[in-house]
Amino acid sequence: MSTTPRIAIVGAGLGGLVCASVMQQHGLPVTVFEREPGPDSRSQGGSLDIHEDTGQVALRAAGLLDRFLALSRPEGQEWRLYDRHAALIRRDRAGDGDLSRPEIDRGRLRALLLDSLAPGTVRWNQPVQAATPLPDGTARLHHGGRTVEDFDLVIGADGAWSRVRPAVSDAQPSYTGVTMVETHFDDVDRRHPGIARLLGAGTMSAKAGGRSLVMQRNSDGHVRVYITFRGPQDWHAGLDLADTEAVRARLLDRYQGWDESLLAILRDNEGGFINRPMFVLPVPHSWERVPGITLLGDAAHLMPPVGVGANLALLDGAELAQAVIGHSTVDQALDAYESVMLPRAIDNATTAQHMLATLMPDVADSDSGSDEALFPDPLWPDSTLADR
Ligand SMILES: Cc1cc2nc3c(=O)[nH]c(=O)nc-3n(C[C@H](O)[C@H](O)[C@H](O)COP(=O)(O)OP(=O)(O)OC[C@H]3O[C@@H](n4cnc5c(N)ncnc54)[C@H](O)[C@@H]3O)c2cc1C
Repeated sequence: MSTTPRIAIVGAGLGGLVCASVMQQHGLPVTVFEREPGPDSRSQGGSLDIHEDTGQVALRAAGLLDRFLALSRPEGQEWRLYDRHAALIRRDRAGDGDLSRPEIDRGRLRALLLDSLAPGTVRWNQPVQAATPLPDGTARLHHGGRTVEDFDLVIGADGAWSRVRPAVSDAQPSYTGVTMVETHFDDVDRRHPGIARLLGAGTMSAKAGGRSLVMQRNSDGHVRVYITFRGPQDWHAGLDLADTEAVRARLLDRYQGWDESLLAILRDNEGGFINRPMFVLPVPHSWERVPGITLLGDAAHLMPPVGVGANLALLDGAELAQAVIGHSTVDQALDAYESVMLPRAIDNATTAQHMLATLMPDVADSDSGSDEALFPDPLWPDSTLADR
């Protein structure tokens, strides 16, 4: 760039942070605006597998790959698939030295990215209301009240319900017909040995028809549970979601006929159920270039959580930073970035949509009928896992 551009990133999620980190590595000043009050204001969520061809590429660009690998859990690549009778259908373990998609707690990855930034880069407690393009090709950020700030480039990294997205696209997320209800186990090996045996070192999934129970091991004996089913968004009508025992009873009702060892996942967890209806952006989602404004990650391509969203957000963030560093104008940088990111996002969103339909078929609550519905499981492509 002939002059140093003024750059704002909205959202201190994984995508926004890696983008800021790569920019700073190359001497570009950047400010990240985050609505949350601080780095520890909420639990950051479960375990993520970071893929060598996407997320790890981004972390290498930020100079963080070795530190990521040191924090990661390669043994977490193990996964198990059961039917509703708790019969093990398939078990995959990573071979020795396999680092193709090691797991890491999301909170640890976010902390690693935050630590890589110059102090003061993230402005916490700064919810952005909107971004608007200006006639001279720059962009305006609207904070609360009448406060505005102008930038040469505004990057919407603010997730599913992006406030920046309306500047480039009218698209809105819509409900997929699938809901995840999240809960957890603590100290699983000591307090819940039966659950720990069912789970193994990584992820387990039990499926039948449009229902599944998924558990994922995090660090320190913590396990996240995702109770996932097809149903209306108001499946909890008449239920107080804060009433753990009432929610538990309603969920147990949905999984009638499942083996007792699987029902223990619903019965014995620590409670505190979090309702997560799955929303997606339309496919394909694209836009005509808007000078000075772009999107990355979920803001650009919210898709079903089938294991690529965080990886793509990381890759988008690193590639956008590299495009800005490598071009002489913001316009050229956005041309280069969007011409690669948008088609990649459409490909991945199409696949994710197909995977959701396969994993959560819209059928009555019954067994899937045949192994083809369960196997091969596209959530964990064969090519990356050994010891079948
Ligand atoms: C249950 C679940 C499990 C998942 N598992 C996986 C997985 O295993 N692997 C994988 O690759 N993906 C997974 N995903 C998807 C992944 O979580 C997302 O794709 C990823 O977090 C997107 O990153 P992002 O940086 O684009 O957005 P986000 O992580 O959503 O970050 C957005 C940030 O912007 C901030 N923000 C929002 N609005 C504003 C505003 N107006 N002003 C300022 N700041 C704002 C938010 O507070 C947040 O910090 C999963 C998703 C879910 C729901």
